[in-house]
Amino acid sequence: MPDKIDIKNYSLDELEKLLAGRGKERFRATQIFKWLYQRDAVSFGDMTNLSRELRQELDETAFVSNLTPSAVEVGNDGTRKYLFDLGDGNAVESVLIPDEGRNTLCISSQAGCAMACKFCLTGTFKLTRNLTTAEIVNQVCAVRRDAEIRNIVFMGMGEPLHNLDNVIRAVRILVDGNGLQFSNRRVTVSTCGLVPEMAVLGREVIVNLAVSLNATTDAQRDQLMPINRRYPLADLMQACREFPLPSRRKITFEYVMIGGLNDTLEDARRLLRLIADIPHKVNLIPFNEHEGCAFTTPTRAAIDAFHRYLIDRNVTVITRESRGGDISAACGQLRGKLNGV
Ligand code: SAH
Repeated sequence: MPDKIDIKNYSLDELEKLLAGRGKERFRATQIFKWLYQRDAVSFGDMTNLSRELRQELDETAFVSNLTPSAVEVGNDGTRKYLFDLGDGNAVESVLIPDEGRNTLCISSQAGCAMACKFCLTGTFKLTRNLTTAEIVNQVCAVRRDAEIRNIVFMGMGEPLHNLDNVIRAVRILVDGNGLQFSNRRVTVSTCGLVPEMAVLGREVIVNLAVSLNATTDAQRDQLMPINRRYPLADLMQACREFPLPSRRKITFEYVMIGGLNDTLEDARRLLRLIADIPHKVNLIPFNEHEGCAFTTPTRAAIDAFHRYLIDRNVTVITRESRGGDISAACGQLRGKLNGV
């Protein structure tokens, strides 16, 4: 008997096809989706508008997966870090960032990460494995039991575009009107710059794109982000220009500011030149320090001057005040383990 399938690994389309292939009505897929994502059903037995026979058949061939946090840490700014045990020795984290009652959930797409960016703690652990579609959406299902979520960002552990199929499928479930019902304006996929995959993402789903730029010359970016040697800045910026954006939407350029490395007004000037012909906004992220990494946070004066340079030139810019630093939940601090464990 073949292994049971995890029903949360299917988008609505795929579930319809699966059921149709077994001689069932397609609308059963919509009913199942609503049970899974709107009523948070944990078994097929809960799905009372399906016939007994269908429930039984589903039970024999499939299962409803779930994640429950093995720990939750709460920072003194209200940031909550959830640790999820994936059951095979791997664990990932999700971070809930409250902002005036509008919570943003930062989710993970991989256990570890293969990109090896020099400033990122996750990058020092290498890639263990991709998360399944179910493991990605189950982070959302789990945290939603605890708090309302307004925005979803794929900015946790891993490089989402390095796990492209599962991320695309997860986005579909997140924005499906019969699924988790997020507006596609409220879902953002962040990438270090996997150029061919950016094109596929843009073709397959409507979603916000964030690009971790972090440097403004190839020499600088080669040093910080090995991926730049494969897809240098000119290719990356071209992929941004070609990314299909719905009208009035912008690409978010993330820029980790590192003390004495990329934090001068010269850098700010080059940054602006790079993104000038792309609808843009900028997220400045002062480097979050972590053990074993020699980089430092820039001075307040350097951050403010950089920020002001961009504001004065009409760039929408947010300097991300570090959130959750006391519980190692800030950008670049996730490692899939609890503090002190
Ligand atoms: N791999 C994806 C998703 C990770 S998002 C990407 O690169 O976009 C994590 C964000 O945090 C990225 O913008 C990254 O540049 C930033 N980051 C990583 N380490 C950091 C650190 N130590 N301090 C501040 N930001 C960091």
